[in-house]
Amino acid sequence: MKAGIHLPEIAARSEELDKCVNCGLCQAVCPTYLVDGFEGLTARGKIVMMKRLLDGSLEPSSSVAELFDDCLTCYACQTVCPAGVKTQRLWTAARQDLAEYTVKTRLKRAGLRLSIGSPRLFNLAVRMAGMTAGFRLDNRHITGQRRWLLPIFRGAPYLPKLRTEYHPSGESVGTVGLLVGCSSNLTTPWVVDAVIKLLTRAGWKVLVPKEQLCCGAPAINNGDWQTARRLARHNIELFNRLEVDFITSPDATCVGAMEHDYPEIFAGDDRIVDEVRRLADRAVELGRLLFEALKEGRLNFRQLEASVTLHDSCHSTHIGGGGRWRELLGAIEGLELREMLDSDHCCGFGGSYTFLHHSTAVQIARRKLSRARETGADTVLVGSPGCLVSLQSAADRQDRRDPEIRHAAELLAEAL
Ligand code: SF4
Ligand code: SF4
Repeated sequence: MKAGIHLPEIAARSEELDKCVNCGLCQAVCPTYLVDGFEGLTARGKIVMMKRLLDGSLEPSSSVAELFDDCLTCYACQTVCPAGVKTQRLWTAARQDLAEYTVKTRLKRAGLRLSIGSPRLFNLAVRMAGMTAGFRLDNRHITGQRRWLLPIFRGAPYLPKLRTEYHPSGESVGTVGLLVGCSSNLTTPWVVDAVIKLLTRAGWKVLVPKEQLCCGAPAINNGDWQTARRLARHNIELFNRLEVDFITSPDATCVGAMEHDYPEIFAGDDRIVDEVRRLADRAVELGRLLFEALKEGRLNFRQLEASVTLHDSCHSTHIGGGGRWRELLGAIEGLELREMLDSDHCCGFGGSYTFLHHSTAVQIARRKLSRARETGADTVLVGSPGCLVSLQSAADRQDRRDPEIRHAAELLAEAL
């Protein structure tokens, strides 16, 4: 590394970088590479660049920094890697160290830092970014309440409209804290309603603390851990004050942040480590939580004649250890699940990626939609509101053969 260049986060991960055996298996699962065909976008390409940054043969620059930004943080590369390279922390480390070399990243971070703790400001920022990226306002796939509340641009935050407590429909088996998540709060409120219906029907009392903030995942993924810690600390204190057995969210990304990221961003901070663990141990991905209720006979579904295909959302599949949506859907008599190819490939959302790299994001989403269309299923189900918004936005530009796109919780709630 040349004098005057400081890359502490990358340097701290040099052992992880050395694990890469250059096999190239990560190429075949990297959605950005599959669109652009540029090796520098793959995990292998990025690792080579990080090593070269460390040995001084490559100098940090805006173009290098922007290559690390051109990544969905989907972590399919981590799942497929035979050498066990933990790519999840490599890219955020690079983003941390390289932010000062690119105005784009600095602006993105400043925007996030300003808006992320305020749902109304964040809503405004999301709307403006969405319009700049060319999201369409109308959507023929959305009807009734869903049309009225449509994603991104019309809705006010949904959290203030929710009650703070929802009681189980039968005997209570415990209490669940609900982190609504920014995507659901701003774009897919009907999914929140479906989740509450499912949880209460399964016997849980649901608490929705109104003071909750963004889980911090966008800041974590963009390497702004200072902002992430501020948000995480707030949510940790808030949810730990509640007497809840579990904490879940309609968004697998938010649960992944609480369960896996919070312990990491506070690693070594003895003042808070116990509190972080107490929260992380109770954070459960929605599909897994509902599956427990199904196994215990607390969820029963009526017959539903339909065909669906399932998109495996990244943060549940590649970080969260896999959702249990297939088992839940399998409990609906009459429902036919038709598997699509590459069901675990990213939908192109990636949080801010969908706005800042919109044309690539749409191409990735279209690829996913064509996989779904090949199955002939009526509906594509997803496990995260972000996937729903991404596919919906791409579907707007497609022909009318596209299937309907729904969160899996919507369909399960309909089958109660
Ligand atoms: S996280 Fe996803 S987009 Fe980024 S390098 Fe890995 S596979 Fe590619
Ligand atoms: S799959 Fe893993 S070991 Fe193989 S090139 Fe990619 S990062 Fe390196």
